[in-house]
Amino acid sequence: MPNYDYHCLNCGKRVRLFFTYAQYDSAEPNCPHCSSEKLKRLISRVALAKSEDARLDSLDPESMLAGVDEDDPRSLGKFMRNMSGEMGEDLGDEFDEVVNRLESGESPEDIEKSMPELADEGGSFGSDDLI
Ligand SMILES: [Zn+2]
Repeated sequence: MPNYDYHCLNCGKRVRLFFTYAQYDSAEPNCPHCSSEKLKRLISRVALAKSEDARLDSLDPESMLAGVDEDDPRSLGKFMRNMSGEMGEDLGDEFDEVVNRLESGESPEDIEKSMPELADEGGSFGSDDLI
């Protein structure tokens, strides 16, 4: 459960309150020490770092591409597997096949040629599209 830090403008104490995100929208926090409603929200770095938003923000394609060798199908396959894992989505059998074949060392061009349905959809798993 996320916690929110406040500074009480009435008694000057630092207050930590717990709300769910849903509760927070309609919450009218009171200071537990003096019951004042004059609470100033403090940003909690710890809470921010654990939030869902922060986790998604850390999905920076550029930093994820760092260390990927585009000329190495295995490296590319590993990258694509990591991406799909981070997104938590099942990207389908075709995606799995492409990743498996990349990881076994096939070049993206060869895979594309042997899987015409990929080209038909206007999609391409060539390295150009990853960037
Ligand atoms: Zn207070």
